[in-house]
Amino acid sequence: MAKNIQAIKGMNDILPGESGRWEAFENTVRDVLFSYGYRNIRMPIVEQTDLFVRSIGEVTDIVEKEMYTFTDRLNGDSLTLRPEGTASCLRAVMEHNLLYDGPQKVWYSGPMFRHERPQKGRYRQFHQFGAEALGLAGPDVDAEQLVMLSELWRKLGLTGLSLEINTLGDVDSRAAHRNSLIAYFEKHSELLDDDAKRRLHTNPLRILDTKNPAMQEMVNAAPQLIDYINEAGLKHFERLQSLLAASDISYNINPRLVRGLDYYNLTVFEWVTNELGSQGTVCGGGRYDGLIAQLGGKPAPACGFGMGVERLLLLLEAQSVQMPIRKLDVYLVHQGEQASSFAWNVSAALRAKGFSVQQHMGESSFKSQMKKADQSGARFAVIIGDNEAAESKVALKALREESTQQLLTIEELTKAIV
Ligand code: ATP
Ligand code: MG
Repeated sequence: MAKNIQAIKGMNDILPGESGRWEAFENTVRDVLFSYGYRNIRMPIVEQTDLFVRSIGEVTDIVEKEMYTFTDRLNGDSLTLRPEGTASCLRAVMEHNLLYDGPQKVWYSGPMFRHERPQKGRYRQFHQFGAEALGLAGPDVDAEQLVMLSELWRKLGLTGLSLEINTLGDVDSRAAHRNSLIAYFEKHSELLDDDAKRRLHTNPLRILDTKNPAMQEMVNAAPQLIDYINEAGLKHFERLQSLLAASDISYNINPRLVRGLDYYNLTVFEWVTNELGSQGTVCGGGRYDGLIAQLGGKPAPACGFGMGVERLLLLLEAQSVQMPIRKLDVYLVHQGEQASSFAWNVSAALRAKGFSVQQHMGESSFKSQMKKADQSGARFAVIIGDNEAAESKVALKALREESTQQLLTIEELTKAIV
């Protein structure tokens, strides 16, 4: 027998038993984003490879080894499954001139693809919610995004998430720091390993992340970014902090927080938990004022974040948070010819009143239908036999608590199950 085809490693099915939690999560996130004036934007999952190379940066983990890139068989284009949402979102906003109408606050959600080693909290297809505020220079926008996220954690019922922030300075400060870093590393070139040599002129900041013990001492004494941040950059960071304090949001300043993508400047942040092992970052973001111009658009400031849905759901599970999962109201049990025709009317009447109804399909005994009703998770069984149907009545039985059966008209039924 042929071997059954299975899903691709690191790409998960989300089955009906689990999808209720996803929907509850998504509803809460959407409501919170909407309440801050963010509007939904939906982009394709596949983009020109160049879009990601030019935005995320050539010498980053994502572009160097994590992208699903393939050649379009028909025209030879190099295409990539999106590894993140910001680049596509900006491409869409620029392509349709949305910033011409003034600043835009948008959010997106959906699958992202990265070829990583699958493990708990790390997958090859995973899901993000992301939001971007475009055309707004902050720091009020940066602060508002953090206030919004903190409200989201509260609404979801999550606790214990901590906020780490840092500033990377503005584009000029970053460039000055970068130049002095390159000069410093060139002076110590005999200590650089192959990775570092390769990154020296493309992404010297990443050399600071090295795990090579032989380079630690040299790296520790390297020029510090904070010393290169100009007055405006420091002011932005201070204002952000006072806005956070005014909203009672606690944070740690983490000078080592640079984030893995090239495009950030000024504010960067991460929300982290220690309950998910090394997959502890559930949300990351910051400001990327240079990116729109870098992609060929008219310069405009921008700030945004992305959150990992799987990691947040794992955390909700770890914290045993009860989620508002939608439950079926009624399983409709019927037997007999007259009862079965009446069942259609009862279902329609209940649905018209907003109740969810699973009407039993096919024919089987009352006993086996009641078993299905129980398994369905419905709150109530509505039971119709030919006797009930003859009187245009139904029997109602609560399935999740002790109850006796009641005989009711449709009108009475819709009142009894609210
Ligand atoms: P990490 O350091 O854990 O690899 P990252 O810095 O690569 O994360 P971002 O690019 O900032 O992650 O993406 C935003 C969020 O998306 C992360 O904070 C995380 O919650 C989630 N995320 C990123 N990669 C994965 C993945 N492979 N599987 C599941 N979630 C992910
Ligand atoms: Mg990563």
